[in-house]
Amino acid sequence: MTTGTGRGEIEETELSELIELLRALIRIRSVNPPGDEILAARYLEQVLTDGGLRPTVVEPFPGRGSIVARVHGDGTGGDPLLLLSHLDVVPAEPGGWTHDPFGGDLVDGYVWGRGAIDMKSMVAMEVQVMRRLARAAQEAGRNPAEDPIPGLRRDVIFCSSADEEAGGWHGADWLVNEHPDWLRAAGALNEAGGIATIYGGVRFYPIQVAEKGFVVYKIRVKGRWGHGSIPTPDNAAVLAAQIVMRLAEPGPARLTESIAVSLARAIPHLTARAARAIQGLMAGANGPTAPEPGAIEATLRDLCDPVLARTVSAIIHDTVSVGIVAAGVKYNVIPGTAYIEIDCRTLPGTDEPAMREELRRRIGEELWARMDIECEQVGPSVSAPLDGPLYPLLEQVLRDHDAAAVPLPFLAPFATDAKHLARIGVPTYGFSPLKTGRDDGLLALMHGDDERVSVEALRFGLPVLWDAVSRFCA
Ligand SMILES: [Zn+2]
Repeated sequence: MTTGTGRGEIEETELSELIELLRALIRIRSVNPPGDEILAARYLEQVLTDGGLRPTVVEPFPGRGSIVARVHGDGTGGDPLLLLSHLDVVPAEPGGWTHDPFGGDLVDGYVWGRGAIDMKSMVAMEVQVMRRLARAAQEAGRNPAEDPIPGLRRDVIFCSSADEEAGGWHGADWLVNEHPDWLRAAGALNEAGGIATIYGGVRFYPIQVAEKGFVVYKIRVKGRWGHGSIPTPDNAAVLAAQIVMRLAEPGPARLTESIAVSLARAIPHLTARAARAIQGLMAGANGPTAPEPGAIEATLRDLCDPVLARTVSAIIHDTVSVGIVAAGVKYNVIPGTAYIEIDCRTLPGTDEPAMREELRRRIGEELWARMDIECEQVGPSVSAPLDGPLYPLLEQVLRDHDAAAVPLPFLAPFATDAKHLARIGVPTYGFSPLKTGRDDGLLALMHGDDERVSVEALRFGLPVLWDAVSRFCA
């Protein structure tokens, strides 16, 4: 098929078009809560309609808009490819920012603003891919809204949805429930992967192939009400504090398939010292005897910066984070009940009953007997195959565009809309390609102050995404 400007290149006019699209999206305040994604959906509806396509915007809940558009292949290549993204962003407090988080400023070679990384840059790149495909049809005298795109053998679907940052219930979940046929595909490309992460001078490109599940529990601690003048061990606040301390201890590490593959592939690119440490960590995590408590965390702190160390630790453990602790009505009344709410993130292979058992083990029988525990929310982990037709192609495209690239499969410690697509059998890969510089620190910028993306990252990203789409669908 027509490959536009060719591999690895993007004309300045198209780069400008992409940047202006991103800046316009950042200026639309689709902050969740409340969302207001309809404003972004309507804007993209106009952009795609101007490009000759016929997008569909839905607003199943007031203000919560999602957009879907499709271009057609000739049908000989198999099921469609889905370009997935979300329109909402998390809130931003302007106080900590150098530039207005909703200004979309282009300064010092960066586009600044909330969503620059998560994930309006990918939305803009996906839209640009759709515009390129539409142009290819128009240049061949075809109607891109109806006719097959020249050289395209599969359909390409673009879906940018509401509400991902709050679980996707008003966006991808609704779409999967109400219009599964709009989204059924051989695979989806989504956020949270394909972004260069520099470690020890090597450019690793983690591609998300799996993501952790989650279980939210509410614990009610049962003490005994009493007078503050006569302290008692039945104080529910004290019991809650003991429970919280035990939950804060990291549990046993476990390497799931994608992480084991990832570490094994990373080792040849590491220094001898780091390689030895990672080999030790791998042997310890899956070995017959559990490593000393805290030993893995100490190794990671020694090897990585604090953000990366915490991230790696999160993807080899079932984690527990205490979110709410509440007890007491008055200083001189011993509380008879206390409440704890916890956010557990589960590795592939850990289901809700297994997570509950792990909590019981950590808390211990004596304290366990003093509490009730209720599961409030549960979401399964998801995994996409490493040996399917799409994953090896994504690695190859990255290597073709960056000879020094080391692509790796990656398990995300958080949940994305991939969990909704998994329900209709669509394997989702985190692949929003951006090449980053040494100082970009993307992990820290996501949801943080001064979120920004460099023009150079976008200059790299669009041709990579384009190649992935055109090679899979041609
Ligand atoms: Zn996101």
